[in-house]
Amino acid sequence: MKVRIGLETHVQLLTGSKAFCGCRNSAGLKKEPEPNTLTCPLCLGLPGSMPRVNEKLLGAGVKVGMALNCGIAEEAVFSRKSYFYPDQSRNYQITQHEAPLGGNGFLEVDGKRIRIRRVHMEEDPGRLVHVGGLRGEGVLVDYNRSGTPLLEIVTEPDFSSPKEARLYLQKLVLILEYLGVYRADSRAIVKSDANISLQTGPKGGSRVEVKNITGTKEIEGALGYEIVRQSSLLKSGGSVKKETRAWNPELKTTESLRGKEEEEEYGYITEPDLTVVEVRGDALKKIKKSLPELPDQRFRRFLKEYGLSGKVAEAILSDKGLADFFEDVAGKANPRLAGNWVAGYLKKTLNYNEIGLEESGVRPEWMVYLLGLLKGKTITDRNAELAVRKMVEKQEHPKRIVKKHRLLVKRFDIELVLRGILKKEKKAVEDYRSGESKALNFLVGLAIKETGGSADAREIRKALLRLITHR
Ligand SMILES: [Zn+2]
Repeated sequence: MKVRIGLETHVQLLTGSKAFCGCRNSAGLKKEPEPNTLTCPLCLGLPGSMPRVNEKLLGAGVKVGMALNCGIAEEAVFSRKSYFYPDQSRNYQITQHEAPLGGNGFLEVDGKRIRIRRVHMEEDPGRLVHVGGLRGEGVLVDYNRSGTPLLEIVTEPDFSSPKEARLYLQKLVLILEYLGVYRADSRAIVKSDANISLQTGPKGGSRVEVKNITGTKEIEGALGYEIVRQSSLLKSGGSVKKETRAWNPELKTTESLRGKEEEEEYGYITEPDLTVVEVRGDALKKIKKSLPELPDQRFRRFLKEYGLSGKVAEAILSDKGLADFFEDVAGKANPRLAGNWVAGYLKKTLNYNEIGLEESGVRPEWMVYLLGLLKGKTITDRNAELAVRKMVEKQEHPKRIVKKHRLLVKRFDIELVLRGILKKEKKAVEDYRSGESKALNFLVGLAIKETGGSADAREIRKALLRLITHR
């Protein structure tokens, strides 16, 4: 059975203002504002209002296009996508149809090249609020969201498994974070529509579109469900209907929405109220120069600069905050030791507590301190793990943690301990001198017991021999 999956992902961008007017963009606000407080005649769709293009939206679109290896259009042209629905009181959405800002790119995911068909700019519609549920008293409209800048990123149907789709989305979101156009800890939403078809033998199933898959975690479940649904239909001799379905994250199922609409129904025309914006020359060069180091480049640098293994570097780079934290620590500690602890126990503890690094309050200098103890062998790996756990759970400096919980290795004056033993065990010493080598093992055993297992057996043996032979 062959599976073909393509994704269309919408990302709300964190620009200060909306796409085509000066109203504040609510996606970047900490709290949901009161309904219809961030509106103006344009985003309310009042007659006579004129749109203008937000430069930040255009800049973000170009940056994302470049990061996804796309060709960039020389002119940004907008279109009207006409439809009648109360969330869009203008009765059309401003989008890009004929000429997307970026096209023909690719993103490498897990060694496989996923082709990017297009990257284009558009606006979000308003939000419908169903009072008392879908069949309740009525519907209210909140136009705060109307005009929120969106990028739509469309792939070719190159994914052959739900896992590939998830890895792609995670990488895409990471790139958007690096480009500074999106933050995972903000209220901005990433939403995907997936199209999926199954091929069993010569008979292929129709393309089904699954809408409204929010975030990066649900995609695998939604596509997994569709594969099971469609393959059981095909196996039982039925056929898959070409339709649009919606993912229900509570029930973990997809539900039929409608038969597939044809594109022509939207009656696209070029938006006559917006002038064509040129995207070329120096402005384009300037944006290209301003591109930050992206996750793939950073990965290669982590291997080279810090000597990390691919697995460790990948684990650290899956989270931008964690990668920044690592670099802070690696500058002041042994980088490989830092890599192992950041990618290992620290990440594990954060995941276990379902808490982000920033939220945990763990500071780079705490980790540097702990790694210093590890390097000086004044703490065992096991106790250092305990200290990391306390750091995350109690937000405390490890200096206080190791004191409070007595986590440091006890230092003994080995020679003093051994002299005491030799004094008491004269017979064993005599036995050893007369050729019974086992007697030495007995003495080593006593010393290990007396030091509570914190001293190295080989060191003890060496010191014992020195004391016995140099009287
Ligand atoms: Zn507005």
